[in-house]
Amino acid sequence: MTSQRTRLRMVERLRQQGIADEVVLAVMAELPRHLFVDEALMSRAYDDVSLPLGFGQTISQPYIVAKMTSLLRNGKKLGRVLEIGTGCGYQTSILAKLAKEVYSVERIAPLLDRTRLRLREFKFTNVRLKHADGHLGLPEAAPYDAILMTAAASHVPEELVSQLAPGGRLIMPIGLNEQKLHCFDLTEEGLQQQILEPVKFVPLLPGLG
Ligand code: SAH
Repeated sequence: MTSQRTRLRMVERLRQQGIADEVVLAVMAELPRHLFVDEALMSRAYDDVSLPLGFGQTISQPYIVAKMTSLLRNGKKLGRVLEIGTGCGYQTSILAKLAKEVYSVERIAPLLDRTRLRLREFKFTNVRLKHADGHLGLPEAAPYDAILMTAAASHVPEELVSQLAPGGRLIMPIGLNEQKLHCFDLTEEGLQQQILEPVKFVPLLPGLG
């Protein structure tokens, strides 16, 4: 139930749900998602559901991870990426396999400590995790070619836009009760916004946890 075959079934389902980025699908076919959830939930790790990861937070369903990652990639190789909301590190690990460099910030220190230990097993050399408030982005490594927020905000934090490289893309859910996935591109004409599908994320919370 946690085998390669289960992952391939998940990937087949993602294709049927409209995910067409084979590069993302190949990474999802490889990465053992069950190692990112509690033992009691492992048997459900490949179902198309979000699951609790402790501290009142959730790991997004595979479809959303695939969708956001495909949008972020936009058919190109990812350079320097910032993720807001490390959580259990599943999305971070997907990005690690696709991007040159990944920075990820998380506000809950004990959750980040646990994820740090977990990611150590994967021996990524291109991932930096930081205990920080994602509202502020991560100025020390800016600018980023892509920014992915995995918690829902009421608006786009100005700091994130200012940390985007020219041509950069920011993907994030916006809204409180009714959330929609948003895609912002920093073009020569300024910030272009696309509003995409409805989603359900935990909220982006203020300050450090
Ligand atoms: N990408 C994660 C999803 C985790 S849920 C995964 O694959 O597991 C969203 C995460 O955002 C939670 O861990 C939550 O603690 C974190 N978060 C919420 N507000 C934040 C903030 N202001 N700064 C940084 N992280 C935040």
